[in-house]
Amino acid sequence: MTKLLTAVNLKKSFGGLNAVDDFSIELGKGEIHALIGPNGAGKSTAINLLTGELLADQGSITLEGQDLSGLSTWQRAQAGLGRTYQITSVINELSVLENMLIALLAQTQQDQIGLTHVTKITPLIDQAKHYLQDFDLLPNAENLAGELSHGEQGRLEIAMCLATNPKVLLLDEPMSGMSLIDGKNMIALLHNIKQSMAILLVEHDMEAVFQLADTVSVMASGKIIASDSPQIIRKDPLVIEAYLGGDDASG
Ligand code: ADP
Ligand code: MG
Repeated sequence: MTKLLTAVNLKKSFGGLNAVDDFSIELGKGEIHALIGPNGAGKSTAINLLTGELLADQGSITLEGQDLSGLSTWQRAQAGLGRTYQITSVINELSVLENMLIALLAQTQQDQIGLTHVTKITPLIDQAKHYLQDFDLLPNAENLAGELSHGEQGRLEIAMCLATNPKVLLLDEPMSGMSLIDGKNMIALLHNIKQSMAILLVEHDMEAVFQLADTVSVMASGKIIASDSPQIIRKDPLVIEAYLGGDDASG
């Protein structure tokens, strides 16, 4: 496994609450690392610390040896950190193709592309259509993103994220609220893309987690309480007590 992202001893407190404490994780190329745990465990906060949306009180984050700790969200994205949100971030008022183009444009240096030059925008449109094809969204290219189903929006969001060529993809509940069939499509999609990057997957859908994950880390009250293969995590009494065996594993 080629190690891509390493976080060591990340900590974040809000007032007196330790939302994330002593959080260490390694993400390798071709690996899906699932992060599970009850609502409020600190999963989204951990992702926000990795992306730079929140600054850690302590700890370090490196991507292929480059220290990201002092970098802005934008700089971390440039370095190869891609993320999606728990709530979808596509622009509803624009078409699916326009959303895809924005993602590709964000990746293109402004001096390389005059927006008025049709000759330069055409290859980008072709590229955008390729992405839409790969994600089974080409028939929806001219539709408003706001008209897509939840599952289609989720796919678009990941396609837009991949357009930035991330080395590491951070996914915060990509299947939440999806229909069974959309969820299954998402599982297949993640399986197909995982070879070329490292994926951190926060997800409540345990079927998806156990199907996809190479490693599962379990968080409770800000800390990782177990980290192992899905087979071992399934049987860990501590994990079952803290999460899997609870009355309500969702939220
Ligand atoms: P999860 O994603 O695992 O459900 P979160 O990371 O969202 O959990 O939250 C972890 C804890 O930190 C929760 O108790 C939550 O209320 C708290 N928290 C998260 N973000 C903030 C914030 N911006 N300000 C204060 N408390 C927060
Ligand atoms: Mg969350």
